[in-house]
Amino acid sequence: MKILFYDTKKYDRQSFEQTLEKFPEVSIDFTSSDLDPITASLAQGYDAVCAFVSSDVSAPTLEVLHQLGVGLVLMRCAGFNNVDMEVAEKYGIQVMRVPGYSPEAVAEHAMALALACNRRIHKAYVRVRENDFSLNGLMGMNFYQKTAGIIGTGKIGAAMCRICHGFGMRVIAYDIYENPDLKSFVEYVSLEQLLSDSDVISLHCPLMDSTRHMINKNTISQMKDGVIFVNTSRGALVKTQDLIDGIRMRKFAGVGLDVYEEETDNVFEDRSDEILEHSTTARLLSFPNVVITSHQGFFTKEALEAIAHTTLQNAMDYKSGVVKPF
Ligand code: NAD
Repeated sequence: MKILFYDTKKYDRQSFEQTLEKFPEVSIDFTSSDLDPITASLAQGYDAVCAFVSSDVSAPTLEVLHQLGVGLVLMRCAGFNNVDMEVAEKYGIQVMRVPGYSPEAVAEHAMALALACNRRIHKAYVRVRENDFSLNGLMGMNFYQKTAGIIGTGKIGAAMCRICHGFGMRVIAYDIYENPDLKSFVEYVSLEQLLSDSDVISLHCPLMDSTRHMINKNTISQMKDGVIFVNTSRGALVKTQDLIDGIRMRKFAGVGLDVYEEETDNVFEDRSDEILEHSTTARLLSFPNVVITSHQGFFTKEALEAIAHTTLQNAMDYKSGVVKPF
């Protein structure tokens, strides 16, 4: 099985090359180009392509892959909102992903963001480096005995519920399905109640038509003043302009974002002044109570090993005709 691996970073190559030792029937060529309708033509002669959240796996890309006889798209991530699943099915291209690798990696990062913006760690860090030991503007609140509202209690949301419970917080949650594993310490409530009762709100549901812009002017207005809001899920769950308006109106004590709407524009990789000047992400960065990281929630040693292992196992399963639930 020959795989063309798109958008290769040094750490991807390391973890996949190490794991390849256990999969002697698989060979991988790595390219730094990301998958799109133009670079798809590089996949000539390959059985599969390996893509990521930033890849463009839309209809035109899938059309090229189909023409080249590529039958498998291996997503080395959980999310697949960048894949046109209908078109993949039409062409008989199998899409496989890594539904869960290390939910704790993302949940721990969500808590890190919540704590960082609550206690202004980002400001304190810079201040102390400048030899300024003043505490002005750094006051936070205790999380102990506060209410954490978790939206989406699948693998990552459940891990976040456990972390918040460990902090001594009351944990409430909203999901379209209740997770039976959490029943002993999580209270399921309506979205409205979660928004109005929570001191810390963390998003852990997937991006779908029904969840796009679920955090908007209306839902923000239902939140408590002084709430801490964290999104490690997908940028487009939040209507960024409405979030900016909410920050300006001092709704939030802190906002922690690992994902943002403009991510697919590679706003940070380009670093073009023109894009940054006009981007809503750049405007978010200008607020002192906002902490933004670069989609790094998944980025732990354990998670990378698990991603490589599941992706290569997916390739072998495809080869031997094992049908896995998506
Ligand atoms: P999961 O499928 O295990 O859980 C998602 C949960 O969301 C499910 O319980 C589902 O019922 C719930 N849900 C669906 N629609 C909902 C709605 N309208 N309202 C409330 N809940 C709803 O997924 P997961 O592994 O926990 O991942 C969650 C998300 O985290 C992923 O979709 C992905 O976008 C994101 N993610 C981010 C990173 C990162 O590095 N920041 C890494 C992996 C995943």
